[in-house]
Amino acid sequence: MSQPMQARPITRAFICGVLASGFVCASMLALAADEAVDESYFDYPYEEVYDYYIIEAWRGLDEPVPAYTPEMVARHTELVAELPWVSPSPSATEGLVLGYTPGWPQDADWPNDPEIPAQPIYGYQITDPDTDGPKVKMVLASGSHATEFTGNWVLEGLVNFVAGSEPEAVFLRENVIFYVYPDVNPEGRYQAVHRIDLEAAPDPNAGTNMRKRGNPELYAAGEQDHNRVWPTTGQFTTIDTITAAMEQDTGGHADYLWDMHGPQEPANWRSPSDEARVNAYAEALLEREPDVLRCGPPGDFKVNVASGPPGKLSLWAKSEEGLQVSYPYVYEPGGWTRERLLESGRNLALALYDVLTAETDE
Ligand SMILES: [Zn+2]
Repeated sequence: MSQPMQARPITRAFICGVLASGFVCASMLALAADEAVDESYFDYPYEEVYDYYIIEAWRGLDEPVPAYTPEMVARHTELVAELPWVSPSPSATEGLVLGYTPGWPQDADWPNDPEIPAQPIYGYQITDPDTDGPKVKMVLASGSHATEFTGNWVLEGLVNFVAGSEPEAVFLRENVIFYVYPDVNPEGRYQAVHRIDLEAAPDPNAGTNMRKRGNPELYAAGEQDHNRVWPTTGQFTTIDTITAAMEQDTGGHADYLWDMHGPQEPANWRSPSDEARVNAYAEALLEREPDVLRCGPPGDFKVNVASGPPGKLSLWAKSEEGLQVSYPYVYEPGGWTRERLLESGRNLALALYDVLTAETDE
């Protein structure tokens, strides 16, 4: 079992250090080859993936979804950071870090739970820096529910596609700014992959549900769910950091937002906006991902998402007090393979391409 990686800023020196240990020097190749990015550029070693037991137990999946660890969030962010169309979001440092979580010491009441070192909170943007003019703004977030690794695989697939060389990706970068927040609950994710002892929870209802203990700061305050506190300010470090960053980065408004979750059966997407359910992007999604259910009528699967419970990221994002997102979406992919999850992320981006090119053709 590996030691937890200490939080550290992303530097080229670190990348080179990784390269020296056998990691392919893809970033240099990509930059040298006339800004073309081979698909293999986005490969990184994730063989140290472990501890997917929680999600497996929780969802009763036949095939466990591979975990997505804090180290993987860092590695993937470091990789894409080397591309010329990836930059810190306006509120992030050069290392693409918005801030750090406080970290948590060992708790004598739960001695089997891990100490949590301060975790970096990442934020970056993807867009063609040489293309001026107004651009569509799409916000991408994952990790609010700490064991829902599927969301991070979908986000990675989306990012790899829009940061890649295919013509649709080039078009998207010319017309869209993607604001990426790959892990909006880093301490929860750290706990999830470093074996929080869920049975030790003093809340007898917590069971194996990481929603109930998925963030030590929330749990200490008597809150149970990181996706129920998004309208708060001054209470929770990651919420404050991420919401402030989203507001500053986007200028207080975005067109689209994806909050990545899952796994869920059936795979589904939904929106608290009636218009977002039926707009051109919704139609394109149904074309690109015909096996993924649109929630609400006619079957009324998860039809209650618009009215509550309050405090979800998607509802905060839609609100006047929040990010004023025109079309906020929540994604719950199935308990799929890594490859299928990556493909689905690509399809979420291609649906936007479909919408924007249809507008151009008119
Ligand atoms: Zn969730």
